[in-house]
Amino acid sequence: MKVSHIEHIGIAVESLDEAIPFYENVFGMKCYAIEEVADQKVKTAFFQVGQTKIELLESTDPEGPIGKFIAKKGQGIHHMALAVDDVTEALKHAEEQGVALIDKGPRKGAEGLNIGFLHPKSTFGVLTEFCAK
Ligand code: ZN
Repeated sequence: MKVSHIEHIGIAVESLDEAIPFYENVFGMKCYAIEEVADQKVKTAFFQVGQTKIELLESTDPEGPIGKFIAKKGQGIHHMALAVDDVTEALKHAEEQGVALIDKGPRKGAEGLNIGFLHPKSTFGVLTEFCAK
């Protein structure tokens, strides 16, 4: 089990149309991809910052995970994604340490990456994602 870097930070926003120009104009970052992940009921926008990405997340359905998150907590940091070699192994390792998993095995996330989430109740309140190519 080795984490190489923070792959991305996921930020829940109400509107990509408002948030993208903010990131571009205020921070001088360039949005290089917009992708809908139907499975997660989100539309995502990506910005590269060094090795790390910022992933803006707009809900496409109030009943989806981001819709519920914003309804409950408002806009803000939603999750942190750690780059690992192998999501299956990383999830297994975490489970062996007594960590509650949201995903028992990897699934496909944005950009075709394998992803798996740990439950925030086990990670000091930070929804944590493992991510691998
Ligand atoms: Zn993510």
